[in-house]
Amino acid sequence: MVELAHASERINVDGAQVGTWSARLAGDDVKLSGRCPACRHETNAVVALQAAGLESAASDTPEELTVSVACLCRRAHPDRPDDGPAGCGRFWSLLLRIQPDAVTVSPANDRELDDASDAWREATTSQATSVRSAAEKWLAGITALYGLFGLASVGIARDSVAALPLSGRIAVGSAAAVAVCLAGWAVIDAYRAAYGWPVVTAVHDNDELRAWYAGRRAVGIRAARQLGAAVRKAAASLAALVIVVGLLWFVPPAPASEPLLQISRVDDSMVCGTVVTSRSPASLRLRRPGGETVVVPAGDIVAVKPVRSCPG
Ligand SMILES: [Zn+2]
Ligand SMILES: [Zn+2]
Repeated sequence: MVELAHASERINVDGAQVGTWSARLAGDDVKLSGRCPACRHETNAVVALQAAGLESAASDTPEELTVSVACLCRRAHPDRPDDGPAGCGRFWSLLLRIQPDAVTVSPANDRELDDASDAWREATTSQATSVRSAAEKWLAGITALYGLFGLASVGIARDSVAALPLSGRIAVGSAAAVAVCLAGWAVIDAYRAAYGWPVVTAVHDNDELRAWYAGRRAVGIRAARQLGAAVRKAAASLAALVIVVGLLWFVPPAPASEPLLQISRVDDSMVCGTVVTSRSPASLRLRRPGGETVVVPAGDIVAVKPVRSCPG
């Protein structure tokens, strides 16, 4: 007997062909088994009610769900590609009525859901690889986020900030924080646009299947919007960084406070004050906090100590 040649095509099924199919709930999956309507070989299918896909919303009220089933029979069909899945290549839609204790199978009655159920079957069979490759890309995105902090901290040297008056430091700090936040937000938006936001989606009935499929088709529009938002945020972040650099360059540094010295003399007395220009050689001249100036000959000095304030 010559086996049916392999062909990847959708077929229509009738009640007699799926009447012998059995289905049962197993956790988040429905397990189906029966004879392929095309090649008549035994086959089975696992329909996931939940997909770790990218984007969409979820709810749960088990009801009627249209599912796409592909023949996965183990028999050899001529012309079957070596790298493809098993089976004769045919796929068809079934309507499942899912109740907690029983699942009944009948031919699908809504042709509009053919494409949506095919897309769901493909998404749930390829989800491991698609989520993993998205995760790799996201990993690079998170690395880029950390890189931003490095960039910002190199740009804003601690010494140049410390020299600014308090109001200047606050302005630099705020502008830098805004720049880093906007840049981080821009990176996240860009990655969302490129690879989607990882979410877990549940599809339990035809309404949820329709909603999931509609959301999936809207991905292109949403990605374009997110990419536009990412570019605007990146530009705003750059503007904030320019403000930071401008503040560092043009805000005059706070006047340096004059150094205070405390000098111990040979007679055990102390003199404390700011150093002022000395007119006599080999001596230090200090102005005391009261305003009075004292000349200390070098020979009288036992120790010199910089201090923050003179003892009252
Ligand atoms: Zn077969
Ligand atoms: Zn088949």
